[in-house]
Amino acid sequence: MGADGSVKLKRKELVKESKGDKIDRIAQIEYNNERWTTCQLSNKPLRDPVVSDYKGLLYNKESILEYLVEPDNFNEKQRQNLSHIKSLKDVVALKTHNFKCPLSDKELGNGGINYVYLIPCGDCMAQKCLELNDTRQCPVCDLPYEDTIVINPTSSETVQELEKRMEILGSKGLTHSLKKLKRKKPSTNRSSKKQKKS
Ligand SMILES: [Zn+2]
Repeated sequence: MGADGSVKLKRKELVKESKGDKIDRIAQIEYNNERWTTCQLSNKPLRDPVVSDYKGLLYNKESILEYLVEPDNFNEKQRQNLSHIKSLKDVVALKTHNFKCPLSDKELGNGGINYVYLIPCGDCMAQKCLELNDTRQCPVCDLPYEDTIVINPTSSETVQELEKRMEILGSKGLTHSLKKLKRKKPSTNRSSKKQKKS
């Protein structure tokens, strides 16, 4: 199991650039840079421990924990953006290696290339370093991996693939971290309000 839930990644995702799109591209690059350094929930600087959701976005684990404990402390927009995160099973703890690919030593997010993390181990690396490895074992820690998630994807194709992956997992009762989704049992009559007896 797991193979059909995997994300198929293209060898290269070329950024198509026409001259008129240059300004858009610069804005996109700035936005993308910010995503590599800023927690997408709290807007605080990213620092370990870092977690990521099925969209490949990065968060400080501390902020996610604060959110899960007390969602009402966050504004409506933040709660909307995090509606897919209901427990720690909906995120994967990353091994960021000080925000560097441990194989190429490239800083994560730099060089106009894709970076990925693996599930379940959470090791982050340049996608091209993973592709040099033709086994289904993490080239950093040797653990077998089930899925590859592009971090901060920029192409709409990749975003769609990640959405599709999550749909498939959901239909199998699995979370982003490939742990089982606990389904809430329908409430029994015990939870109904007791009528006051006088
Ligand atoms: Zn690993």
